[in-house]
Amino acid sequence: MAQRIAEYQDLHDAEFVGLSGNDKANYWLDSLEKLCKRVFSLPESFYHRKLRNCGYQPGDLKDIQSFRKLPFTAKEELREAYPLGLQAVPDQDIIRIHSSSGTTGQPIIIPYTKKDVADWALMFARCYALSGVTKNDRVQITPGYGLWTAGIGFQAGVERLGAMAIPMGPGNTEKQLQMMVDLRSTVLCSTSSYALLLAEEVTKRNLKEKIHLKTGIMGSERWGEKMRARIEAELGIETFDIYGLTEIYGPGIGIDCKFHDGLHYWSDFLYFEIIDPLTGEVLPDGELGELVITTLVKEGAPLIRYRTRDLTRIIPGTCSCGSDYPRIDRILGRSDDMIKVKAVNIYPGQIEELLRGVKGASSEYQIKLSKVDARDHMLLRVEAESGTDFERLKELIATNFKKQIGVLIEVEIVPIGALPRSEKKSKRVIDERDL
Ligand code: ZN
Repeated sequence: MAQRIAEYQDLHDAEFVGLSGNDKANYWLDSLEKLCKRVFSLPESFYHRKLRNCGYQPGDLKDIQSFRKLPFTAKEELREAYPLGLQAVPDQDIIRIHSSSGTTGQPIIIPYTKKDVADWALMFARCYALSGVTKNDRVQITPGYGLWTAGIGFQAGVERLGAMAIPMGPGNTEKQLQMMVDLRSTVLCSTSSYALLLAEEVTKRNLKEKIHLKTGIMGSERWGEKMRARIEAELGIETFDIYGLTEIYGPGIGIDCKFHDGLHYWSDFLYFEIIDPLTGEVLPDGELGELVITTLVKEGAPLIRYRTRDLTRIIPGTCSCGSDYPRIDRILGRSDDMIKVKAVNIYPGQIEELLRGVKGASSEYQIKLSKVDARDHMLLRVEAESGTDFERLKELIATNFKKQIGVLIEVEIVPIGALPRSEKKSKRVIDERDL
């Protein structure tokens, strides 16, 4: 990536990139203090109240420990600030708003200044550049345009980079394929499920020879390696996993590089922490927990220690690509789905990954938690195809569980169809420990 950064130098802050580890830590602390001072100085603003209530005084952030004493910001608080309670600059400085899709309750409205929009486009352009997209590419954008941050973010990033945007928006597969063929799109931006649908149509209609795609930028959903491999094979592309959320600019705040070993994020704009979702304690690099984000330079609606509810970890060490930008793992799930067994945090994503690696095991499972002699006991029930050696499978899963997740559990193998089906992932866990 050193080369990739060199190719698109104008997208990077040379001064920041050149900082040593210690100087970076100082940069973050300075930026955090500046941010806190600025939002505290706005009387009766969202963060003035929050910081006042926790006893913050300007100049308090002497080290990162003092920053960690500041309260988290929860999604519910953003909802309660509806419609424009988060706005931290005068009206004349706001040029646009975006909104999260409020499936339950109030939506969250995020106001943006000119600088916010420009910063977001810059970060997004870096994502394209990191995945190898250049000015010569033609980028077909299928995420939706509108209140969402999706389509418009993909578009602004393409324009900032200087490639050609083909702003399709979602749906209308017929037209998508026509444009893909006739305009010779080289990059496809979409959700993984829509990419899969397009891939199937391309195969069905024998269009593979007629399309020119080489890169896929996939976002907004969790997707497994199997699905990734299928999309890549059927469309003949290399895919990249883009990360982001409406509350923090939108998609484009992080992406994997050619080594696909975690997602780089733009640490000159954003400060990431990983916390234990149950205790709120900041976890060391490498440990799984909930991602908490602070926006370092956002103006319209800055956020301090925002709990994303996304489960991941900070990957320690430098990436093989040589980039200094730190990395997080792919998103493993939602922090609401986490369970604690024998003092170990376990996430559904870990279990799904483990089962994917065991031949004969299906992806259907159920967890039953209980107390045996006052100690946690976990029973993992897994469905397997008939004809599989249930006894062997049982032992293999138990051994792998101990090895990979670190907890000794009991495993039971049941035939396909024996476990209840539910749309809700959380229904997979039956916790009888408090009964
Ligand atoms: Zn890398």
